[in-house]
Amino acid sequence: MNNTLAIRDDLAVKLGDYACRFCHSQDLHTFVDLGMSPLCESFVTAEDYAQGESFYPLHALVCGSCFLVQVPEIVSGTEIYGGEYAYFSSFSDSWLRHAADYARMITERLQLGRESLVIELASNDGYLLKNFVAAGIPCLGIEPADNIAAVAMEKGVPTRNVFFGTETARQLVADGMRPHLLVANNVIGHVPDINDFVAGYKILLHAEGVATVEIPHLLHLVQGNQFDTIYQEHYCYYSLLALQKIFAYHGLTLFDVEKIPTHGGSLRYYFCHAENQQRTVRDAVHELARQERDAGYEDLEIYRSYKKKVIETKYQLLEFLVAAKRQGKTIAGYGAPGKASTLLNYCGVREDFIDYVVDRNPYKHGRFLPGVRIPIHAPEKLAETKPDLIMILPWNLKDEIVSQLEYTRAWGAQLFVPIPEVSLC
Ligand SMILES: [Zn+2]
Repeated sequence: MNNTLAIRDDLAVKLGDYACRFCHSQDLHTFVDLGMSPLCESFVTAEDYAQGESFYPLHALVCGSCFLVQVPEIVSGTEIYGGEYAYFSSFSDSWLRHAADYARMITERLQLGRESLVIELASNDGYLLKNFVAAGIPCLGIEPADNIAAVAMEKGVPTRNVFFGTETARQLVADGMRPHLLVANNVIGHVPDINDFVAGYKILLHAEGVATVEIPHLLHLVQGNQFDTIYQEHYCYYSLLALQKIFAYHGLTLFDVEKIPTHGGSLRYYFCHAENQQRTVRDAVHELARQERDAGYEDLEIYRSYKKKVIETKYQLLEFLVAAKRQGKTIAGYGAPGKASTLLNYCGVREDFIDYVVDRNPYKHGRFLPGVRIPIHAPEKLAETKPDLIMILPWNLKDEIVSQLEYTRAWGAQLFVPIPEVSLC
């Protein structure tokens, strides 16, 4: 690397008195600093287009004591997730299939039935729990966003419109609810007060219950260069070692782990009460912990070298886009997920490169990507304008989207992903 990649890093100035959200250490180091960024799900309406927007520092850190990768909470979770939120899980076919497969597998593995109780945290629009409802297994969703909780209830999925933590856990126990299965998919990274959240598990989980946690694996973020999955609403990025440590601190044992392909490479963790003697820790846990240690995830160097890779990715993407525009090509984007906001804001890619993006979620149509203000349309727009290049922003769904966009080959469109590096597909 030449010295043009040296970056200014006056960490103490940038952090104030911030301390690790798990262990409270102030021995913090830069993992990657993505500059100023808007909230990634705050899509701008046409009415607000002439107004300003708030930008916040997007600076991921690693704790030198517990190695938890984290983004300081600058905007409160209540502001982000309470009220109205734009993410509806049911707009991805592959995610719905994943949920149905999980429901079948876990029902069999834990022998769930009419006497059991399933609780899901951040149950979204009922995309998962509807499978348990259909199977006659009692369930309850916990969902803080009003508009999304309402959709779940319309579908017949019992849902409480609250945030989860020790207070909600005590309330549920007081109401006679101790789940045999406690599910949290892609939520634990979005929790600012991780200690209160996991302490809630200890209170709520049935004595013989199992909690499963699905979450992207930090190793993929690092090895797969998935820095665009970092955003304000996403406070922590977990290695197995870090997550295991946090749950153990709160009296819960990690007894199994599975690799799953969602979100660019995730893990499904299985926890039980530390007092539960029926479950023994499987080899998969020891094996993955060993792999992480061997790969250096309990050493600062691997975290501190990451930022150079991110800067290089920005340079490569811009070189590709500039070359395409110099050749007179038109470019559109497919998908407006949160990661699009991080990537495009960090790289400074606006309508000067990308005319518009399309998304299947009608909530986003007629709105604009936060910050970069690229307009969002329905997918039909592609056939109307026939762009030369289409950037697939949810690269984790690349295969599904490439097959959905097969028809664009008729006019010679080239599809590409920006991550882990620009490549045609
Ligand atoms: Zn820490």
